[in-house]
Amino acid sequence: MPSAVRPMGTAAVAQRSGVVKFTNCLLAKGADLVYEDLWVSSVTGKILNGQEILYGHLTAPDDIIDLGGRILSPGLIDVQLNGAYGFDFSVIPDDGSLAYTKGVQRVNRNLVRAGVTSYLPTLTSQRPEVYHEALPYLGPSGSTRDPSLGSESLGAHCEGPFMSPTKNGIHKLDVLQSPTHGLSSLAACYGPSNLNPHSPSPIKLVTIAPELPGALQAIQSLTSMGIIASIGHSEATYEEAKVAIKAGATSITHLFNAMKPLHHRNPGIFGLLGTASSSIAKPYFGIIADGTHLHPTTIKIAYNAHPAGLVLVTDAMRLAGMPDGVYDWTNGSRIVKNGALLTLEENGKIAGSSIELVDCVTNFMNWTGTSVSEALKAVTETPAKMLGLEGVKGSLKEGADADLVVLDVLERAVGEEKKIVVDQVWKFGIKVHDREKIKSGGCA
Ligand SMILES: [Zn+2]
Repeated sequence: MPSAVRPMGTAAVAQRSGVVKFTNCLLAKGADLVYEDLWVSSVTGKILNGQEILYGHLTAPDDIIDLGGRILSPGLIDVQLNGAYGFDFSVIPDDGSLAYTKGVQRVNRNLVRAGVTSYLPTLTSQRPEVYHEALPYLGPSGSTRDPSLGSESLGAHCEGPFMSPTKNGIHKLDVLQSPTHGLSSLAACYGPSNLNPHSPSPIKLVTIAPELPGALQAIQSLTSMGIIASIGHSEATYEEAKVAIKAGATSITHLFNAMKPLHHRNPGIFGLLGTASSSIAKPYFGIIADGTHLHPTTIKIAYNAHPAGLVLVTDAMRLAGMPDGVYDWTNGSRIVKNGALLTLEENGKIAGSSIELVDCVTNFMNWTGTSVSEALKAVTETPAKMLGLEGVKGSLKEGADADLVVLDVLERAVGEEKKIVVDQVWKFGIKVHDREKIKSGGCA
């Protein structure tokens, strides 16, 4: 990793320094917004030590960006995105890998405009050959650091196929497997080159049902490889879930959805949030705040139980970012998209989510009454910590990547619900999206 602060002597002052200063802005850090300047480098793509620059007279900024009192937040992180903008990460197009690559690139370029500067492309349960083909294109972008590519993969999320057949949700039953031989079963499914203890893996996170035969050994092996094991699509009891945490699992995939509900005599997976911290490390947990998957009060209860673990996810599929309308689906079915709500045309059943992450933050803030700064943590600092990227992503501290969003909070009337909108997006210290310029016909 290059140093966070470039040494800048007086000679550098005469040249362009690449330093950008954001001013007249509210920084999303801590429990409340803080009125403070932020300095970043468009050369290293990282956040600088403003105090050092200011008091050391090290350099003058190339650009001073007056945000007019708006919020400056770390870029948003979505750890569960199945597809968007008409592309599905789990479908290999008929014309093969070139079309697949183009699809991934299209998602990245569009997703960044929605304020999501990094994410985990997510594969639903599939036959092994789909993982073998898709995973090599979904790994972490790593050292590329090119703002023009848009949103950045932090590694793939394999949601299944090692899940309970009774908690499969919309995952196809005939592709589900048991991890009977631990890591070997996973490697055979995902592809030996995609899951090998001796080489970097494109996989960042695996959702697995811990009660399946061999699952605990698989969780131990994944954890030792630095891959996150997340409990989900599972019939696990509270006791089984606790054993999974002891084996190394650190997360729960979309809490409440596709798992046993809370029962007062067996709290199930949800019970992990109430366990004394001294007995196990409380896990992070994904929450789909789209107004369909969970009741607002359910979300508030989970948040109150373990605020530092809540991670907002979209779990959105390929119709996210598409206009409202009726779309062809699999097996001759059609899906009606009406805003974020997706339903099957034939029976009106819920058919997944197409919400944007910033709207999840809006909902979460309105439903829990938490501050905007605290709500933003659920899509910045907390997912970064969950992914082992604390201080690299999701942070405004010196040395973190300068992935930033400028946000406005709209309020129709005092006391009415607020709405957060993404005005600008910066990736590695470079502006890649500006809503104002688009509105006025300019390019961004
Ligand atoms: Zn799921």
